[in-house]
Amino acid sequence: MSSALFFVWVNLAIALSFAAAMLAIALLDNRFRAAFWFAGSFLISSLYLIFELATAEWPHSASLATLTLTTFMGGLALINVGLSIHYKRPIARWVIPLTALVAAGLIFTAQFAFQNSLTGYIMYQAPLAAMQSIGAWVILSERRAKLDRALGVVFVLSCAHFLAKPFIALATGRFDNASQPYLSTDYAAYSQALGTVIGVALALLIIVIMVQQLLTELKRQALTDGLSGLLNRAAFHHELSRMVSRRRRRAPMSLIICDLDHFKAINDTYGHECGDQVIAEFAATICRAVADEGCAGRIGGEEFAILLEASGLGEAMETANRVRIASHALRLEAFPDMCTITASFGVVEIHPNDSAQTALSRADLAMYRAKAAGRDCVRTAPLERISPPSDGDGLRIVA
Ligand code: GH3
Ligand code: MG
Ligand code: MG
Repeated sequence: MSSALFFVWVNLAIALSFAAAMLAIALLDNRFRAAFWFAGSFLISSLYLIFELATAEWPHSASLATLTLTTFMGGLALINVGLSIHYKRPIARWVIPLTALVAAGLIFTAQFAFQNSLTGYIMYQAPLAAMQSIGAWVILSERRAKLDRALGVVFVLSCAHFLAKPFIALATGRFDNASQPYLSTDYAAYSQALGTVIGVALALLIIVIMVQQLLTELKRQALTDGLSGLLNRAAFHHELSRMVSRRRRRAPMSLIICDLDHFKAINDTYGHECGDQVIAEFAATICRAVADEGCAGRIGGEEFAILLEASGLGEAMETANRVRIASHALRLEAFPDMCTITASFGVVEIHPNDSAQTALSRADLAMYRAKAAGRDCVRTAPLERISPPSDGDGLRIVA
């Protein structure tokens, strides 16, 4: 068996395995619709390899050679459709069919007019390079993460590889003995071996990118509260602890806790669904007020916390007041105009000796002061004494 023939068998096994893997991914989760196209691409590539094996039996059949190359072209085209879906980067409808049509015409013409010549090989390979450049464009025409960029680079390399192949054929003496069957040439061995490397790199990168997308989405879901879209309690605590431990010698940082007023009455009067809408709208108000100055979480049923990363007490009090006033203007379908949504706010500046827990306790205390002061207002809780954490006493909070 020639080395090229051996590689074709290996490639066939690899293409079928990847087709099965992509199909499994596509069936695993309906987020991976693109994986159906990738599976289709590897299946068609398997068909191409079967045709390639058939050329060992009929090495001089022009129609078989045309069929082989156009099938390969089809496999590459389907990858591009999959990429376009995955990256939500539409390709104009005519681009792929036109490239495939021009390719088929060139490949067919080359079979008769330019067989086994440099021009003929350029006519085979240029459309394949064009197809790979579409894939590279889909990925690299927008800002992407590192792994996506790596995939784009593999597409560029694949494109360069197709463009270089006619000259490699020339260099490996392919045209000196033109009647030698393709699969018994050094050129074919080289071509199939590099095809293996590029094909495996592409498939593995695509699989890793899809797995990474799934993990990111699951992580986002695990950290986010579904109703408000803010961080959930555990995620907010984690973020607060992280920021408090990193802060120490840096700019001021403040914490706000707010709790919707008489929320039970809203639920009882207008229904739980209306209550849910109030929570969602109030959370959106918080998001707008915080923007990218910190993070916010829903830490209880109708209780929220905001961490402002570069605000002292005064600025944080202003932010709390902005949210408080904005909440008065909230209007919901199920909620009569005369009813105003209000909340009580507790604000503290986080001291270098604060832990996440002491900061939360102080902000909570401040929020209860706002409730006691008649609700719909902003209050703070001063520190009576601050001791370094090492003396075991820590912070003392005064009510
Ligand atoms: P206060 O002004 O003192 O804070 O009074 P309140 O009625 O807001 O506080 P209370 O703790 O008595 O009631 C909170 C209510 O929030 C009770 C609970 O049914 C409701 N709640 C908690 N989580 C949700 C939720 O996800 N959706 C809805 N609609 N209601 C919720
Ligand atoms: Mg409440
Ligand atoms: Mg509450």
